[in-house]
Amino acid sequence: MSAALLDELRAALGAAQVLTGSGADGYLTDQHRRLTGRALAVLRPADTAQVAQVVRLCRQHRTPIVPQGGNTGLMGAATPDDSGRAVVLSLARLNRVRAIDTDNDTLTVEAGAVLAAVQQAAREAGRLFPLSLGSEGSCTIGGNLATNAGGTQVLRYGNARELVLGLEVVTAEGEVWHGLRGLRKDNTGYALRDLYVGSEGTLGIITAATLKLYPLPQAQHTALLAFGCIHDAIAFLGVARAGFGAGLTAFELMSDTVLGLIAQHVPEQPLPLALEAPWYALIELSDSEGEQHARDRFEAVVGRAFEDGLVSDAAIAESLQQSDALWRLREEALGEAQRRDGRNIKHDVSVPISRIPDFLAATDAALQARFPGVRPVAFGHLGDGNLHYNVSHPLGGTPADLFAHEDAIHELVHDSVHPHGGSISAEHGIGQTKRDVLPRYKSAVELDLMRRLKAAFDPLGLLNPGKVLAPASLRLHEE
Ligand code: FAD
Repeated sequence: MSAALLDELRAALGAAQVLTGSGADGYLTDQHRRLTGRALAVLRPADTAQVAQVVRLCRQHRTPIVPQGGNTGLMGAATPDDSGRAVVLSLARLNRVRAIDTDNDTLTVEAGAVLAAVQQAAREAGRLFPLSLGSEGSCTIGGNLATNAGGTQVLRYGNARELVLGLEVVTAEGEVWHGLRGLRKDNTGYALRDLYVGSEGTLGIITAATLKLYPLPQAQHTALLAFGCIHDAIAFLGVARAGFGAGLTAFELMSDTVLGLIAQHVPEQPLPLALEAPWYALIELSDSEGEQHARDRFEAVVGRAFEDGLVSDAAIAESLQQSDALWRLREEALGEAQRRDGRNIKHDVSVPISRIPDFLAATDAALQARFPGVRPVAFGHLGDGNLHYNVSHPLGGTPADLFAHEDAIHELVHDSVHPHGGSISAEHGIGQTKRDVLPRYKSAVELDLMRRLKAAFDPLGLLNPGKVLAPASLRLHEE
């Protein structure tokens, strides 16, 4: 049966685009290198018609499909299980820009286009596509939409969901939904687009998207600011929002532990100020009226915050190079410092901004009580209430000692997020990694609605099975 399917897939795509054996290996392990699955084959269709044909063939053979973009997701959502029954469907060859409409401020692009290439295409048209992630050199726009990715500009422009107007999707039946509408207003029934966004490949396969474009900023100002406590950082966020309005495009929080790890492990990226405060934030002002206007606004707001005692120290970038160096601390050195310090236990959570101080105090205290000496490594997108609350091994200990308590540490942190009105996944999704803990934090009503949606969109349960919802919990219909 699988041999027959492979023959049909080779006939449909060409033998070179049906990878088996060692040719498939690069697609079977997740980004963290913690999960490796097996697959009947990795398929690399060239266009939407081929994706639809693959889905129809797999459906006839009752073969599960795992969609994959850049494979940079952090929840194991693009990795097949180890049964070897599924095919991995790589969207990488669907990477064309189909249209740019500058009057409508939209860009239509295929799902496998790498995010950096989408940003570049927008720039070449004199526009900004503002989604910005550390993985932008390899993640794809299809993957960004399937995970409803966030990143550093959500504060101003929103998540991936807020940046897309239309989608083209191959359904579980192998039909094509031509939903590439460039409309900002369209109240014609259920918002199917919004269901596909964030569904992690479990409801349909995104093959193209019409994205929103924005004006390119004329000037940008970046600074690293120090705060005497987390309350001051939050108070300054309010001040910056009021002072900069929509110009505030980033507010990236980092604890002193985070910057200390960079100082210790990544000396090639020197810190621009002395490490004397508990909290820091990388902030960015984007301005549409030019350099001088940006500088004046920046100095007025930050200067007043200094006088009011909200900000205790500041390194303000005076050139593009200095601005890039500040961003490198956040985008590159931060990850590298954690790697060199030893693997840590990662959390991507959100809580209402007003409850962040209580959440941090309660979680730090609970962790120390149960796992003395562990080091919280907290950073994140403060303006979105999104914290990456990672936990590192005690000094003198090892990552292996820490990982012996991995499940208990996850549970402790997530159990603390929940009563603070938060979410156990702010921007990375559920995938397989958080699938089994989801029912602990979602109501039975919400989970049941999700299962019914899944059964309606994918009655045979062939699209990315075992991701987001456990297969055993699904009510699927065998035809
Ligand atoms: P993949 O990893 O290939 O897939 C992710 C999920 O989407 C899977 O469920 C897959 O089945 C599904 N999928 C992929 N393509 C399609 C498609 N065309 N149709 C249907 N389903 C599809 N994430 C953030 O949100 N914010 C960040 O700031 C951020 N920073 C990161 C920094 C680094 C260094 C790394 C490694 C990752 C980061 N991520 C971040 C996570 C990751 O980059 C994003 O989740 C990204 O959106 C995944 O895109 P991808 O193309 O790699 O998708």
